[in-house]
Amino acid sequence: MDAPVRTTCAYCGVGCGVLARRIGDRALEIAGDPQHPANSGRLCSKGTHLGETVGLEGRLLHPLIGRAGAGKRASWDKALGLVSKRFADTIRQHGPDSVAFYVSGQLLTEDYYVANKLMKGFIGSANIDTNSRLCMSSAVAAQTRAFGEDVVPASYADLEAADLLVLVGSNTAWCHPVLYQRMMAAREERGTKLVVIDPRRTETAEGADLHLPLKPGSDVLLMNGLLAHCAREGLVDDSVLSVPDGFWEALAKGHDLWSVAKGCDLPPADVQRFFDLFAAHSRTVTMFSQGVNQSLRGTDGGNAILNLHLATGRIGRPGASPFSITGQPNAMGGREVGGLATTLAAHRGFTPDDCADVARFWAAPNIASKPGLKAVDLFRAAGEGRIKALWIMATNPAVSMPDAARVREALADCPFVVVSDVMAETDTSLHAHVRLPAAAWGEKDGTVTNSERRISRQRAVLPLPGAARPDWWIVSEVARRMGWGDAFAYNHPAEIWREHARLTAYRNAGARVLDLGAHAALTNRAYDALAPVRWGGEPFAAGRYPTPDGRARLVPVVQREADAPLPRWPMVLNTGRYRDQWHTMTRTGLSPKLARHREEPLVEVHPDDAAALGVADGGLARLATPQGASLFRVALADGQRRGELFAPIHWTDHTATGGRTGLLPRDGTDPHSGQPGFKQTPARLEPV
Ligand code: SF4
Repeated sequence: MDAPVRTTCAYCGVGCGVLARRIGDRALEIAGDPQHPANSGRLCSKGTHLGETVGLEGRLLHPLIGRAGAGKRASWDKALGLVSKRFADTIRQHGPDSVAFYVSGQLLTEDYYVANKLMKGFIGSANIDTNSRLCMSSAVAAQTRAFGEDVVPASYADLEAADLLVLVGSNTAWCHPVLYQRMMAAREERGTKLVVIDPRRTETAEGADLHLPLKPGSDVLLMNGLLAHCAREGLVDDSVLSVPDGFWEALAKGHDLWSVAKGCDLPPADVQRFFDLFAAHSRTVTMFSQGVNQSLRGTDGGNAILNLHLATGRIGRPGASPFSITGQPNAMGGREVGGLATTLAAHRGFTPDDCADVARFWAAPNIASKPGLKAVDLFRAAGEGRIKALWIMATNPAVSMPDAARVREALADCPFVVVSDVMAETDTSLHAHVRLPAAAWGEKDGTVTNSERRISRQRAVLPLPGAARPDWWIVSEVARRMGWGDAFAYNHPAEIWREHARLTAYRNAGARVLDLGAHAALTNRAYDALAPVRWGGEPFAAGRYPTPDGRARLVPVVQREADAPLPRWPMVLNTGRYRDQWHTMTRTGLSPKLARHREEPLVEVHPDDAAALGVADGGLARLATPQGASLFRVALADGQRRGELFAPIHWTDHTATGGRTGLLPRDGTDPHSGQPGFKQTPARLEPV
């Protein structure tokens, strides 16, 4: 029997270590890695059943040329030749901003690095964005505003060292289950208090000391109210912070207990209890996730939390920190190499100095000089004919983007669409002129960075099936055919990792926290054996931040007025995940055991609303928004607030006749981050 291979789970930002042992042609035995610091051997249901998702059912095994139904098998040489020619022709005729890449937190850091380098250094556009834009780009914007760099200050150990945990917009028990297990174990041992702030009474909220089911989108008011309370109680110290004029005066207005409770639609006694708990526990971690980020004011929501921790000194010490928790296994690795259209590479921006440095390092002929199109804008541009060649890697935007019907139209109209993926047929690949077979989890080799900045290796345990190839190889081959072979002459992911590490240290001199210079000379063997390691250590323990004056900044944020309800759309739709599914189910949908948790998508509605609407538990209803409509089975849930609905994001045209949540959210975005506001779409529910 083969020895187990140490690798990392593919399914969420906790980044658990996995021991994967090959026990047959395409069969794996999976166990948690007791030596991995993220999980110490624990796994959740998704990780446990990884072995059920590595079969070849539905796999894309060869390049295909021609749109769905007419796709014909082609050699790599022919497919890559076509991709490189169409991109080169489009750039020549319409300029570099007429092409775009849309990539994914499922890519390994090495894949991301090469795609980013090709687009921003050689094609000469920054039109590369990632589905991480949909996940935590508001946290990135908030951290950059407050700290000067996109740095997560906390570690998982802080969750266990805290005396109070505040979870904001996070159903941790379902979405980051192993972290939840760690928190519950610490709670059992130390009596840690737990406050959950979430409009829904989720499984996470059920286990809390205090659940605050606030009005959706009122989190800025609640956090500002808490900071104002701390100021009144003499708990703030801004002497080492950069504070804009008038910050405290503005905060003092409208943030008394009663105004906050009324604005958040919460009982004043519960708000007071939360304030008292926070004031009493200097070792507090506030963990925030999609409930904050996926809002039209997500960046302000993040900064309200960061303000609170900075001004009360709850940062940079064990058990005291704000903590943005990422959704995807490699959401952070992508951010580090510049996978977002708004950063260049290695946490650099588009200042003339940064552009010149990166161009010099890459010997890049066409460095991008301005940010590119963010995800929603990118697909809008495709719909308007401004993007004429689009390459989508490892993601399914025809389902996962807001207002997905518009995205499908854009893909259908785009003159040239390339999809690299593991699966042959997805809602997105139906629109591809060329499909390129990518290596899947278990076959790829590289690194990912989890929510606590820990770099871990994903290692291959299965052979590449058919003609599948790693994404970094595919991108490099296209770059070579476009005339840039010398800059993309990679033969091993370790070569890419060393280059990335060198770039983070290049002309850095401590200016940026991201500095992987210690890895710049790793041998291939040392890279293969790399143990999980957190970059940046405890960056803010000395109270110094990567801003020009070394001070963290308080950022004034105000609660925006909620939009008035629309007469035809009197309810509010919130979307999210189920415990045992991942994204659009292209992989987890293969596992019969994972399907048992929730066999179909349900729309959850408060029993009183259901009675008023005439919809019954277990019956069918039509869920509609201004963007679209779909049939759902109804589940009565008294954990829903009145007037609010919840639907899961996973099901697609391929997996269900109804329950297609992707068609429903509006495509409005946060003004700072461009992250879509998935959480508060005006909606209505009708009996059928
Ligand atoms: Fe995988 Fe996340 Fe579950 Fe860990 S918690 S096993 S990383 S899905």
